[in-house]
Amino acid sequence: MRKPLVAGNWKMNGSTESINKLVKGIRSGMDSVKNAGIIVCPPYVYIPAVVELLASSGIAIGAQNVAKEQLGAFTGEVSACMLKDIGCQFVIVGHSERRALFGDTNAFAAQKFAAIQQGGLTPIFCVGESLEERDTGKTEAVVQAQLEAVVELLGVAALDQSVIAYEPVWAIGTGKTASPEQAQEVHAFIRGWIAKQDKALADKIQILYGGSVKAANAKELFSQPDIDGGLIGGASLDADEFLNICKAAG
Ligand code: PEP
Repeated sequence: MRKPLVAGNWKMNGSTESINKLVKGIRSGMDSVKNAGIIVCPPYVYIPAVVELLASSGIAIGAQNVAKEQLGAFTGEVSACMLKDIGCQFVIVGHSERRALFGDTNAFAAQKFAAIQQGGLTPIFCVGESLEERDTGKTEAVVQAQLEAVVELLGVAALDQSVIAYEPVWAIGTGKTASPEQAQEVHAFIRGWIAKQDKALADKIQILYGGSVKAANAKELFSQPDIDGGLIGGASLDADEFLNICKAAG
C-alpha cells in the first residue's frame, strides 16, 4: 500500500510576509489531513524560515532545483548537501519549466537526480509531454526517454529512493487538467515500464500527478489506481486550497 503524498511547488512566488502567512495557515489546518504525506517546496532563500516554522510538524521541505556538483567554484549554484544541511529532504528535478527555460535536458536532469541522492536527499523527478507531443502520439516515448536517462546513468534501483511526478506540460499553470483517465493511462505506463525491470519497486514507487490540480478535481484524480497524490503549483499558494487537496489525497 503506497502512502499518498502531496507536494506544493511554490515556484518563484512569495515574500517573507506571504510565506509566513501561508505556512502558518497550512500548519494550523494540517490536523484535518489524515494519512497523506505533505511536502512544501519554497524558493531557496525562504527555506530556512520555512524549516523553522514547520519544525516538528511532520511536513517535509523540498527545494525546486539543485546543482549537479556538491561543492566548489560554481558561482550562484546550490548543492544537495547544502540543502540537506539546512533541513531539506526532497528536491524537484526535471520540472518542465527548467527543461524549457534553463536547459535541463534529459541527461542534465539525470545528473542532478544523481547529485540529489548523493547529497542524501530524495528526488521528485518530473516527466511529461508537450501538447504537440501528445497530439502526435509521442507521450509514452517522451516519458520513457526521460525515465531512461536516469536508469541508464544510475540503474533502475536508483528509482527506489525517489518520487516520480507525471506532469503533462500542457496542463501546467494552464487551468487545463488531464482527465483522470488520461492521467491514469500515463501513470500505468510509467509503473508498467518500471515493473518490466523491477516489479517490487514498481509496486512501491509513488507516482504523483501534476498539472492544474485544485481541490475541486483532486479527489477524482487521486482515486485512480496508479495516482498516489499530486505535485501542486498555483493551488499550493493558498493554505485552505492546498489543505483541501491534501485531504483529498488522504
Ligand atoms: C507545477 O508547476 O509543478 C504545477 C503542477 O503547476 P500547476 O499546479 O500550477 O499547474
